[in-house]
Amino acid sequence: MRKARLLACLLLPLVLFTACAAGQTVHTYNKEGCSHVYGSRYDVVPVTCQTPGTVARYCKICHAEVSEAVAIPTDIMARAHAFSDEVKEPTESTEGYTTRHCALCGYEIARAFVVPAKYALLETEDTKTVAPAGADGLVFSDTKTHVLVYDVARDATVSADAACRLAVALTLADELTREGTAVTPDTPVPFGSGSLPAKQLLFAVIADYNPDALRALSRALCGNESAFSARVAARLVRLGVDAQVTVDPFSPIGGYATLGGTAVLLARVLDEPLLLEGFTAAAESDLSLVAGRSPLLYLASADGTLRVSAIAAGESICFAAVFGETLPPDYEIALYLVP
Ligand SMILES: [Zn+2]
Ligand SMILES: [Zn+2]
Repeated sequence: MRKARLLACLLLPLVLFTACAAGQTVHTYNKEGCSHVYGSRYDVVPVTCQTPGTVARYCKICHAEVSEAVAIPTDIMARAHAFSDEVKEPTESTEGYTTRHCALCGYEIARAFVVPAKYALLETEDTKTVAPAGADGLVFSDTKTHVLVYDVARDATVSADAACRLAVALTLADELTREGTAVTPDTPVPFGSGSLPAKQLLFAVIADYNPDALRALSRALCGNESAFSARVAARLVRLGVDAQVTVDPFSPIGGYATLGGTAVLLARVLDEPLLLEGFTAAAESDLSLVAGRSPLLYLASADGTLRVSAIAAGESICFAAVFGETLPPDYEIALYLVP
């Protein structure tokens, strides 16, 4: 009996050990007996687009190593290229992109990471293509994202006078702020029997398209009026809207403009501090209110079928170009209530 109890005492730990061993893996720190639990893969020789690589894994218990070859992917795009990138920044009218060239195999991606042109007005799945009642066309966006809230009848032909005023103001500001220019905003420009600072004449052009101020400025900046007209045309080309806007600065009635082209000009003008100052001063003296607020810019075509406006919205500016044969005077209220 005593013997039997002693045996049980001796056997019990063995039984327990066996039970334990059956229930879960028991590891011993011995490479030969180890049932290996491997951890993550490590690059030993990184795979390139030209040569296969090797990865290794190590046993968490005994640190035994297994290695595997890594083949070069058959899909050339999936290979580990040694790219050097050449970044082409977007311009006002053209997309930016990156050209990637692999120094190892010569593989090249001509246009990666494409970004839109700086003043492209962008559509998303949220862009509405039906305008609230009362307008035939509506382009609404903001200066921070250029993403369209409304994109309705962008290609419709509209009165060109707003586009003309925006294009002329933009060209004048460009000339006055160009590096190395002889005529800066503070330069006195001959006007009437005396002279006025160029900036004051620019603001007179912005406020009511004063023809004498425009002539004085265009002569001071470009020598003569036809040279200035050519600069305006070139400015429209640079902005990429020359197919959508053609204007004669000295005869603003009769040019051609689309709603979308006018809106792109508007977006560009709002990005120019000197012009924003001039248009805001003009809008304030006009006593126009847009949706109960003082606009940063407000222009209405002579025939009343087109209005462009802009309102501060935090760090950004919301802007709208709206047209219609019977535009309600309060049409912008609902637009600018959008948070
Ligand atoms: Zn092991
Ligand atoms: Zn390569």
